[in-house]
Amino acid sequence: MAAIRIVIIGYGGMGSYHQKELIPQELVDVVGIYDIAQTAQDKAREAGLTVYDSLEQVLNDESVEAVLVATPNDVHQDLSIAALRGGKQVICEKPVAMNVSELDAILEVAAETGNTFMVHQNRRWDPDFLVIRDLYQKGQIGDLFQIESRVHGANGIPGDWREQAAHGGGMLLDWGVHLIDQILWLVDSPIKSMAADFSYILGNEVDDGFILYLTFENGTRTLIEVGTTNFSQLPCWYVKGLNGAAKIEDWDLSGEIVVATHQDDLVAPKPIKAGVGLTKTMAPPSEEATKKVAINEILPEFPSFYQNFYDVVKNDAAPIVKNEEVRKVLYLIDSVFELVGH
Ligand code: NAD
Repeated sequence: MAAIRIVIIGYGGMGSYHQKELIPQELVDVVGIYDIAQTAQDKAREAGLTVYDSLEQVLNDESVEAVLVATPNDVHQDLSIAALRGGKQVICEKPVAMNVSELDAILEVAAETGNTFMVHQNRRWDPDFLVIRDLYQKGQIGDLFQIESRVHGANGIPGDWREQAAHGGGMLLDWGVHLIDQILWLVDSPIKSMAADFSYILGNEVDDGFILYLTFENGTRTLIEVGTTNFSQLPCWYVKGLNGAAKIEDWDLSGEIVVATHQDDLVAPKPIKAGVGLTKTMAPPSEEATKKVAINEILPEFPSFYQNFYDVVKNDAAPIVKNEEVRKVLYLIDSVFELVGH
């Protein structure tokens, strides 16, 4: 079957990354871009792409089947609705919209028109997340009862629209939407309680980081932490299971999985000197009590985002990123803003 002809709306950092790195040409053919900025238009022309003069021109071009919305967050809703009404299939970057009511308006038009609307929650394919998902599903370190997920940067918020509330800036909407999506997709249980706090260390009008605790009805406790003023980073993942623990330091999968051996004849831990005191409780496990297992890359058992998009549009396949899942994530984000304040 022929590739899906797509126009990229918003040819900035992520729009051009889609075109250069993510979109498989055999499935999706980038026929052009539309962007309000001259610099982005020039960059696209240099890349040999057709530059549309207006959104209407894109929508009136019947040879265009789909659009990718990769603009700042505050215009995702209007652009997505216009494209759906214009008869296009739509991929929208995350966060899908500024809040649930904006998303609901998009989903209403998607249902009305019957056109595909899919959100690019690409971090479901991240290698570090796939390792944690594998541990969760296969139980290599037993049932996971605590999951800590972090991203720590030291460069503050990039100095553009991400610093401005009106454009949907701030780290909860930026990285939070990824990490919350991963956790809600992973833990198959309703949320029982939550607590959250934002940081404003750099004095921006939007959060430069946050901490979110979620406790699920099945007993799983999760912590999500994003920081942009961390000159030393904590691991991306630290998870504890009934039979071990795992730590993934970074996206390169450095870290360790430690599995308890539970041998019957293990020697009881001996007290150790700790600081100026003595402890048996905090003594490390003896070498026989645990074994270290290498972290191996886990290949997803589901197709890539673009393969799935292609199959959804052409073959009526089920989307991997479902709109009701995206809505749950945004609902939680709305709830955090309501709980903590902006
Ligand atoms: P950016 O500022 O680099 O690019 C945005 C582009 O959109 C700019 O070229 C701007 O001129 C253009 N634009 C703004 N308003 C427009 C409009 N009304 N019509 C057409 N073009 C318009 O931003 P970015 O970093 O590329 O982020 C874009 C989107 O991608 C955001 O929603 C962001 O959250 C998302 N993103 C996702 C990932 C991911 O991994 N999924 C990574 C980075 C960014």
